[in-house]
Amino acid sequence: TQTGGEHVALRIRPLSDAEQEESASVVAHRVDEQMVVLMDPMEDPDDVLRANRSREKTYMFDVAFDCSATQEEVYRATTKGLIEGLISGFNATVFAYGPTGCGKTYTMLGTDTEPGIYVRTLNDLFRAIEETSDDMQYSVSMSYLEIYNEMIRDLLNPSSGFLDLREDSKGEIQVAGITEVSTINAQEIMELLMKGNKQRTQEPTAANQTSSRSHAVLQVAVRQQSRCPDVLQEVRFARLFMIDLAGSERAAQTQNRGQRLKEGAHINRSLLALGNCINALSEKHGNKYVNYRDSKLTRLLKDSLGGNSRTIMIAHISPASVAFEESRNTLSYADRAK
Ligand code: ADP
Ligand code: MG
Repeated sequence: TQTGGEHVALRIRPLSDAEQEESASVVAHRVDEQMVVLMDPMEDPDDVLRANRSREKTYMFDVAFDCSATQEEVYRATTKGLIEGLISGFNATVFAYGPTGCGKTYTMLGTDTEPGIYVRTLNDLFRAIEETSDDMQYSVSMSYLEIYNEMIRDLLNPSSGFLDLREDSKGEIQVAGITEVSTINAQEIMELLMKGNKQRTQEPTAANQTSSRSHAVLQVAVRQQSRCPDVLQEVRFARLFMIDLAGSERAAQTQNRGQRLKEGAHINRSLLALGNCINALSEKHGNKYVNYRDSKLTRLLKDSLGGNSRTIMIAHISPASVAFEESRNTLSYADRAK
């Protein structure tokens, strides 16, 4: 059986050209498989010494990567393990979290030569399906949407306007009227995805950092049925959400995951609600009330967070001294030790 629960990975990207031109130093380091340290570049080393403090703060994750990690390594340590559950009927969600420019789209979409989690997951999913397709009959469909300012747009059919969330007769959340494409071909999905990205409010190529305020949600639905007519005709259905979140820079500003996040004037509502849901889900004690109704994103994910579902968060930071504040916010948000 599958255990629910949340897994948190942290990825530190390489110093960018711009950061190098500013002569930024590296202040975030991966210490070992689970530990990252962040050094405060503003603190005076003499003060620190006198006060017998450390300039470095330590953060713990289920797994930590630095710029030497390959796309394949990140995929294997995070998302690959979700596939078995998915074809056994368990929902799963993987999302990329972090400030704009820190590598979310690189991790999820990647580049032509360094493909990311989307393609690797789909390839492995279809491979796994092929291996078991003597006994089981599968159908896989995908949809791709954007949540921008709490409005849902179908990236595969942008002319359909803004879409609503509805609960179907089984109590499952559906996006009313969204395009669902049936396929068993990862290449086809990726082509649709690239086409969909061109329709985004701001196109999320890795070179473009302006797509910071919308969430891109790739949904893969797997339905299966035994081929043997004698067996109880159980139909299994599971969904995998793979999400490139909006930039966390506003949402994370002074808050962290230990507190309830408060909504400020221009803060992305879905991102805040997601943080609050994850907070509630990961709290081991006390009242576990999870308010999914707070945003479009959390309503959409209602059946895929918590319970029997697996959730993986991959948080992203820059290693640069100039990004220190953002990195500290992101690290404390994602820190596993809480
Ligand atoms: P985000 O989606 O979080 O705004 P991007 O994924 O667009 O950030 O990354 C910003 C830039 O950094 C891009 O040019 C991207 O190719 C590069 N980059 C990010 N992560 C890595 C990495 N791990 N290795 C190499 N380049 C990276
Ligand atoms: Mg991006």
